[in-house]
Amino acid sequence: MSQATEADVSEDGVIESVSGPVVTAKDLDAKMNDVVYVGHEGLMGEVIEIEGDITTIQVYEETSAVSPGEPVENTGAPLSVDLGPGMLDAIYDGVQRPLDVLEEKMGSAFLDRGVDAPGIDLEKTWEFNPEVSEGDTVAAGDVVGIVPETPSIDHKVMVPPDSEGGEVVDVKSGDYTVEDTVVELDTGEEIRMRQEWPVRSQRPADEKQTPTEPLVSGQRILDGLFPIAKGGTAAIPGPFGSGKTVTQHQLAKWADADIVVYVGCGERGNEMTEVIEDFPELEDPTTGNALMDRTCLIANTSNMPVAARESCVYTGITIAEYFRDMGYDVALMADSTSRWAEAMREISSRLEEMPGEEGYPAYLAARLSEFYERAGYFTNVNGTEGSVSVIGAVSPPGGDFSEPVTQNTLRIVKTFWALDADLAERRHFPSINWNESYSLYRDQLDPWFEDNVRNDWSEKRQWGIDTLDEEDELQEIVQLVGKDALPEDQQLTLEVARYLREAWLQQDAFNDIDTYCEPEKTYRILNAIKTFNDEAFDALEAGVPVEEITDIEAAPRLNRIGVQEEYEEYVDELEADIESQLRELY
Ligand code: ADP
Repeated sequence: MSQATEADVSEDGVIESVSGPVVTAKDLDAKMNDVVYVGHEGLMGEVIEIEGDITTIQVYEETSAVSPGEPVENTGAPLSVDLGPGMLDAIYDGVQRPLDVLEEKMGSAFLDRGVDAPGIDLEKTWEFNPEVSEGDTVAAGDVVGIVPETPSIDHKVMVPPDSEGGEVVDVKSGDYTVEDTVVELDTGEEIRMRQEWPVRSQRPADEKQTPTEPLVSGQRILDGLFPIAKGGTAAIPGPFGSGKTVTQHQLAKWADADIVVYVGCGERGNEMTEVIEDFPELEDPTTGNALMDRTCLIANTSNMPVAARESCVYTGITIAEYFRDMGYDVALMADSTSRWAEAMREISSRLEEMPGEEGYPAYLAARLSEFYERAGYFTNVNGTEGSVSVIGAVSPPGGDFSEPVTQNTLRIVKTFWALDADLAERRHFPSINWNESYSLYRDQLDPWFEDNVRNDWSEKRQWGIDTLDEEDELQEIVQLVGKDALPEDQQLTLEVARYLREAWLQQDAFNDIDTYCEPEKTYRILNAIKTFNDEAFDALEAGVPVEEITDIEAAPRLNRIGVQEEYEEYVDELEADIESQLRELY
């Protein structure tokens, strides 16, 4: 969070009323979304409504000690984030106050009121390596220098997007703080490593493109059946215990994004504590460095003020857009958007607005869509390409997907991964229900998979889908009359579908090998099951009884491909064995 200087602040309002996080002030000269300091303690707040001489403010801190009659000061600036080196490896609250700095200031993990801290360290020096020379002309968004921020990420220092640009008249090289001028333009503009951006406005880009590349996750059911594009949107509803946390961790670790922004709006205090403790321990499997070297964590627990939860997703997506502008692929995970919507609901009810469905404000759908709209694959103003993919977890009460947050999210996102409590109970992981989930990116991503993996990628997948659909229909009959009453070909289909579920869709996040599955391996497992299918039906047609077919020694080995490191050889051999063992039967 950027701080206003003393000179900016004008003391011009008086508190009229206080209702939880919502405070009204009289005679405050303010614009919508201005940041204000409320009361003697100077609690940070944001203007959310202006009617006549009454201004309504949402306060990002606990307001119990604030009373009518106390002053309100307006900074005149919108709620903004500080952008620059130092955001990776950081843990912030919803208004970008670094938790460790606040903790140090107050000596406790419980945030005190009226304490502010800049979002990035203003004193630390960074090694600035210029990319421009005197005499060069630069425009908005252009990269003027590189800072090796972490072992994993080079931070690109850019001309701010709202700059007029100009000719470089001075450029520095070496160690500087984020507040030092590193490049000076002939217009007099001084460029520093730190820039600010108002969180509620999208950072500009030249063009939003149709995404054509997948965000490869290394999770078979996602890449194989329900892929998300780089720059795409996905929702993952997670009833308790269904594997939401494991899935989010897997994505943070394995998805082929350069940067991860993890926005946690916690249900209970200890849930976010888990994330705050877990993440710094995670290793980035591709580099061996700490995962935090390419991660920015925004953490809000329910014991933090509700308004900070409302703003946390905006803080997160603005940081994501900033890295996108550098040409990076960013994955933003919001966990959970239900908590965010509840914060909106609480503030709305304090404002005595007309409630919509289940008490949520009527603008719930609009807010959700504004947020997800900021995802995309972009041509940036500096000509580079970058993406922000947004994966929002939803926690529907009681796992009931008909509630407003899930329903409104479903209308917006293009990928839906439905976690299923029944599958989790049966220990089928990841417990993503393949009948309910979908991806609207599937067709537009097929060319990528066909060019980069195998040219019959979509054909094989369709066979898998059809077989699983058929199983779903047959299961109804099996429930009524039992499996043995089915004709032999249908019994065989059930057996093939079982392998699809066990060998292909199931994946053990805790197995060192199986935890990540490259698309080629996803293809090979599916193809091996298809080989079994084709050979088995040939055998059946030649008169071999179904039990003999399903009993061959090789078949159960399908379930072990996932855990093979040298899977190519293993699959070659297995396919040959399936073929010979089945052909021996007739
Ligand atoms: P939630 O966050 O939805 O409450 P978790 O992500 O903590 O649920 O998952 C609950 C448990 O399910 C985990 O502790 C783990 O044992 C198991 N689990 C979930 N996903 C997987 C997976 N992909 N592979 C193996 N086990 C899993």
